[in-house]
Amino acid sequence: MDISRFVHTFGRYLKDRFGERVHKLSLAGDFTCPNRDGTLGKGGCTFCNVRSFGRAAGQLSIGEQIGQEKGKTDRAKRYLAYFQAYTSTYAEVETLRRAYEEALAQSDIVGLCVGTRPDCVPDAVLDLLAGYREQGLEVWLELGLQSAHERTLAAINRGHGLAAYRDAVARSRARGLNLCTHLIVGLPGETPAMMHDTLAQVLDLGVEGLKLHPLMIVKGSRMAAQFRRGEIAPLPLAEYAELAAELIRHTPPEVVYHRVSATAQFPTLIAPDWCAPRWSGMQAIADRLAKVGPQGSAIGHAWVA
Ligand code: SF4
Repeated sequence: MDISRFVHTFGRYLKDRFGERVHKLSLAGDFTCPNRDGTLGKGGCTFCNVRSFGRAAGQLSIGEQIGQEKGKTDRAKRYLAYFQAYTSTYAEVETLRRAYEEALAQSDIVGLCVGTRPDCVPDAVLDLLAGYREQGLEVWLELGLQSAHERTLAAINRGHGLAAYRDAVARSRARGLNLCTHLIVGLPGETPAMMHDTLAQVLDLGVEGLKLHPLMIVKGSRMAAQFRRGEIAPLPLAEYAELAAELIRHTPPEVVYHRVSATAQFPTLIAPDWCAPRWSGMQAIADRLAKVGPQGSAIGHAWVA
């Protein structure tokens, strides 16, 4: 089932903007993360295992990574360079500029997606990104928030609160940057009402894009130990699909969903098993939306999941 019948997907957005398919190439700049290098802490977010990003930072040059990633896709004519691993704004501005512009130097790279934390976007970095946007490039700032609830943020050891997100959003919107916020569905202790409240707060602050991730337990993360002790459990597929569909139905149609589910491979993935097959989450959400209505159809209605 084609989910773009029910959801404003990033693929559809890019096709409308560029008139053809544009692929996103996942890259790892030579960056670390303040929640791992000791600046904020050493343990990282409890769900995170940076090895699951698939490549150690600095192993290959950006140009080499682009070549390798293009080889993995059905060849498109145009691409976005997605700085995904670690905290991709966590370096001196000149270091960032070199990394981003090594990617942008390739004529078929039409823009950047940069994944980071809300407390790692100083004005100079936002100005750099806004400069690319002013040149006509497609630029997305991807901010990990995961939850708008302070108790949850503390429990998952994010090392920042909602105030950092509010501040980052205000400064990136003042520069006209496209913002995509990452949320995790099914974090320990969160009820459906809390997830709905997170979405409502993110929409109120203003956002052009969203990414939904199911809570996944991956090897090497602090949650892996909590899972083994029976303290936490990821959502079953049906429950995830119901919650994600409800979030999508409460999202205005113009907001672009960059992702509605996620996958990981064994043995990195510990649970849930349904995150191993590539399409299971997306298929279940599409099936649910086919029954209950598409993106935006529940705006103004009560939350039912
Ligand atoms: S999820 Fe991001 S911010 Fe958290 S520890 Fe991992 S790399 Fe750092």
